[in-house]
Formats: sequence, C-alpha cells, structure tokens
Amino acid sequence: MKESKVIVTGGSGLVGTYLKKYLSNAVFLSSSDFDLTKEMDVRKIFDLYEPEIIVHLAAKVGGILDNIENPADYFTENILMNTLLLKYSKQNNVKRFIGILSTCIYPDFVSSYPIKESELHIGPPTESNFSYGYAKRSLAVQIDAYNKQYGTNYQYLIPCNLYGIGDKDDEKRSHFLTSLLKKIYFAEKNGEKKISLFGDGTPMRQFMFADDLARVINEILENNIYDSFNVANEENYTIKEMTELAMTTLNIKDITVEWDKTKPNGQHRKDVDVSRLKTLLPNFKTLSLSEGIKKVYSSYYD
Ligand code: NAP
Repeated sequence: MKESKVIVTGGSGLVGTYLKKYLSNAVFLSSSDFDLTKEMDVRKIFDLYEPEIIVHLAAKVGGILDNIENPADYFTENILMNTLLLKYSKQNNVKRFIGILSTCIYPDFVSSYPIKESELHIGPPTESNFSYGYAKRSLAVQIDAYNKQYGTNYQYLIPCNLYGIGDKDDEKRSHFLTSLLKKIYFAEKNGEKKISLFGDGTPMRQFMFADDLARVINEILENNIYDSFNVANEENYTIKEMTELAMTTLNIKDITVEWDKTKPNGQHRKDVDVSRLKTLLPNFKTLSLSEGIKKVYSSYYD
C-alpha cells in the first residue's frame, strides 16, 4: 500500500491490538487520547493528523447483560462516534473510511441461513442487543447514504463474534468464548470441578479469531477493495458444542458445565454467508476454532 496517513480508532481494543502488526505506520487512538463522542475531540484529530484513511474500530462494545442494562448508552455513544467520524471524514476529504459493524445488526430471524448482506433490513435486530444492533446497523445506512449523496467510496465490514488474546475479561463486558476459556483456566488452577455458563447452550454462533479480521482489513487496504461484506469463520456451533470443543481441544475431562437458565440466551442464530468475502479474497483462510482456542488458552500460562 502506498504510504497514506492512516488513523485507527479503537486502537487499544481487541481488534486494534492485532491490527498494529499489519499497519505499523498508522496512528492508533484510544479513548484516553480522544473521546469520539465529543465533537471538539473529533475535530482535533482531523486538525492534528490530517488523515487520508480512517479505520473506525472504536465502539461501545459489551456482553449481553451490559447491553440489556444500559441500552441508552450503547445507542447514544455509538451513534455519536459514528456520526462525528463520518461527518469530519467527508468534510476533510478522507479518501477511505472503513466502518466495522457486527453480525448482531442482522434481523433476529431470516427465512434461511446463513444470512446474506442483502437481508440487513428485512427485520429488527434481536431484543437483547436491540439498541447496539440498531446503532451499528445505522452506520451501514449512514455510509451508504454518504456514498449516494456525496460520491464517497466508503465501506463497512460485518464481522461475526470475535475472540483473542487480550480480550476484556470482566463478567459483564467480555465475550462468550474468552469468558469460557478464562472460566476453564481458573477452574483448573483452583481445582474446581464446575463452571457456570449463561443460558441453555442452544444458540448458535460463529466465532472468529480477532487477528483474522485485522488481516482482512489489511488485505482490503492493500488490494484496493472498497466493497462492504460479511467477515466470518464458517464454523457455526451451538454454545454447548463450542464448550465441548473447547474441553476436547484442551483435553479437559474433569470439569462439568452448569447451564444458568436464569440468564438470557441472546439471539438464537446469526450465522452469515461469506461468499462475497471468498470472491473478493479467494486465498483468505480463517484460523480454525480449535487452533484459536489453543492459542488463547496457552497465552494464560505465558
Ligand atoms: P473493544 O476491545 O471493546 O475496544 C473498543 C475500542 O473502542 C477501545 O479502543 C476503546 O478505547 C475505544 N472506545 C470506546 N469508546 C470510545 C470513545 N468514546 N472514544 C474513543 N474511543 C473509544 O472492541 P473490539 O472487540 O476491538 O471491537 C472492534 C470493533 O469490532 C467494534 O466496532 C465492534 O463493534 C466490532 N465487533 C466486535 C466484535 C467482538 O466480538 N469483539 C464482534 C463483531 C464486531 P479504550 O480502550 O480507551 O476504552
């Protein structure tokens, strides 16, 4: 890629940390540098760095309970960040803008799975992350609207659930797979025989190693790809199957799982179609779930 001034928002997060390996000359920002919900801060970024490319990773992201308890914050903070970033990108003639959405923007139900990009607007997002889902879906609407009205060539990626080394691990904000691996690790360490997981284990999920998303971002920049598309690992397991896979992969035989059915399950399924990704990046391969599980788990012992 020709040297351009690249700004990565959310640079201290899970995906940002992996992206640093690929975009070594970019400026990675966190909330301690600038609060992207504040217009004055966003204006400062553009004045200070004069970016040509924005990779917009920053978002208020969290687990199912936090989404249920704080829906207004999830909606407002994400809408503000997205709106300000896009407004100043257009005003400052930023030539590339990559917004990162999430598969939870998709309708709660579709008639056949996996979900295609064209099915985004056929129904509302699931109840448990309704406001986050709508806020992130709105970024797709907003980017498409900018392209239509202003002739920009901005784009968005729609990744499935992610996991990786360095993911948040507090109970409320962590994501399922990271939280599962941490629970197994501490049960092993403390000689406990049982772990407790939310729901009944029936929802299905695609989980992708966060580094895979970072590689896709790097490849679309290097190959001048401007399309918007789903990014996912095609392995689609129930939470129960994924838990069994983790136990088998890690050769753990003496820990049982207690399903806490007083806690919500979340969306039943949201697996997405990756044909567009495969056409655009035919050589791209995601890390298998069992390899990723080994990588993340072994990092706890480092
Ligand atoms: P993350 O680990 O939660 O990191 C969020 C990042 O956003 C952090 O760098 C955080 O800065 C920054 N941020 C939050 N509020 C901000 C604010 N007001 N001003 C400036 N920066 C702010 O997120 P991630 O997991 O890397 O996710 C990256 C993107 O992928 C997000 O857009 C997310 O919606 C999307 N995504 C994530 C998943 C997943 O499972 N993780 C799945 C699908 C899509 P601090 O570190 O300073 O707080």
